[in-house]
Amino acid sequence: MQGIERRIAGVSVVFPFKPYASQLAFSSKLLSCLNNEQNGLLESPTGSGKSVALLSSLIAWRHRQQGRLDGEHARQKAERKEALVVEPVAKNKKKVKKLKRELAPKVYIRSRTHSQLTQLVAEFGLCVKSFQKSHPEYEPSMTLLASKKHYCINKKASKATNTDEACQELLAKPGCGCAQFKGYHKVKSHPSIGHKVWDIEDLVVAGRGVRGCPYFAAKNMTEDAEFVFCPVWTFDLLVHLLPFFTPCLAPVQLPGRSLDTILCWHRFER
Ligand code: SF4
Repeated sequence: MQGIERRIAGVSVVFPFKPYASQLAFSSKLLSCLNNEQNGLLESPTGSGKSVALLSSLIAWRHRQQGRLDGEHARQKAERKEALVVEPVAKNKKKVKKLKRELAPKVYIRSRTHSQLTQLVAEFGLCVKSFQKSHPEYEPSMTLLASKKHYCINKKASKATNTDEACQELLAKPGCGCAQFKGYHKVKSHPSIGHKVWDIEDLVVAGRGVRGCPYFAAKNMTEDAEFVFCPVWTFDLLVHLLPFFTPCLAPVQLPGRSLDTILCWHRFER
């Protein structure tokens, strides 16, 4: 796959295929919203390639912002060294977090159903591969949030009518009733996960391989992920709990009745 590069709103976007005029227009509006920290509501008809335009633009924009963040970190570090300033670790950590939120925030991509999310992740993989043709060093981190019904690998809980309740009962048992829960942190180091593009099935296979819970692994990976794919209900929950979360950019795709697709993003502040 070659990858077709176009300079749009100051960002080098790499499309997997030659972009349609509608995709270029879509990317231009999206990037101008991102560059100016504005909310946006974009509409594009079915079949106009909006998902690829959305994902290619987000990958390119996030990559550029990461570069700016790294540059700013290096500049501040050099300044402190020159001025012989040694900052307390906690204060420095807080500053680093704030800078990250401002320059390279997490991107949330939400959709209504798991099958739509799976399709988006597949398209994301395609766009990442194209982008890596010109930026081989870039390996964006991601996670895909889904319900326990999709992720649970515990023999008993996964067959229960209500997997969520069954899981909670197991976890409430003294010493934890689910062996996989204790190993959830091992899942992200699996060779097929890490800085790779993966879907629900991949995470379940990796979880079985290392005997670690894919559900809690996916949740845990949200902290470091640049891109978080999540169903609508999870995202609404995140918004509800927002004071406890870092600000984010959130493209939203919703099939509507009169509109084919609505896309918007918000920047939240603490
Ligand atoms: S911790 Fe994970 S594997 Fe264990 S019961 Fe809960 S969802 Fe299933």
